[in-house]
Amino acid sequence: MKLLIATRNKDKIIEIKEILKDLDLEIVSACDIPDMPDVVEDHDTIKGNAIKKAEECAAFSGLFTLADDTGLFVDILDGKPGVYAARFAGEGCTYKDNREKMLREMKDKTNRKAQFRTVVAFASPAGIIATAEGKVDGEISTEEIGTGGFGYDAIFRATETGKTFGEMSQTEKEKISHRGRAFRNILPKLMEVLGS
Ligand code: IMP
Repeated sequence: MKLLIATRNKDKIIEIKEILKDLDLEIVSACDIPDMPDVVEDHDTIKGNAIKKAEECAAFSGLFTLADDTGLFVDILDGKPGVYAARFAGEGCTYKDNREKMLREMKDKTNRKAQFRTVVAFASPAGIIATAEGKVDGEISTEEIGTGGFGYDAIFRATETGKTFGEMSQTEKEKISHRGRAFRNILPKLMEVLGS
């Protein structure tokens, strides 16, 4: 049985394939589906965007689909960038632009608490089946530390390990990360429906 991961983001595909590796499923990504249109992420919640992506991609491909959406919520910035984490430094910005903007906004701030949250949505071509959430608490570091991962990884220090995601191996990150937790939380439903 094929399962579609509704993303073209290579970093996320690697992480998600690792999390789902024990299932007896053929995992394909949006890169493997010809002419798959990009989904416009226009909801103001990560759950809304995850459901929209899962439903549209499942309907287009005719495959059971998992889609995730992630937000970074920084306490002192009133929860910003939140659902808009990808575009924090503006339309078309890079991961580095976002990290640099975050470090500038957090300069001299003593409360550096932040949380990553992911919602993963599971849909069939007929519509949404289930959603699950994963969270990880941490803080924004005062400088970039570590070279692993992607996005905000080098400036997000997880409370549980005292290390930034950028300092962690893929396996270490996946055990405690928002995405790892969200995907593990959806696994029982996936196995129930797909019998894997
Ligand atoms: P998305 O909704 O999963 O595409 O995530 C939105 C943005 O959040 C991405 O463009 C990244 O900047 C950031 N992000 C998502 N997941 C991670 C992660 O695991 N580590 C660091 N940054 C992330």
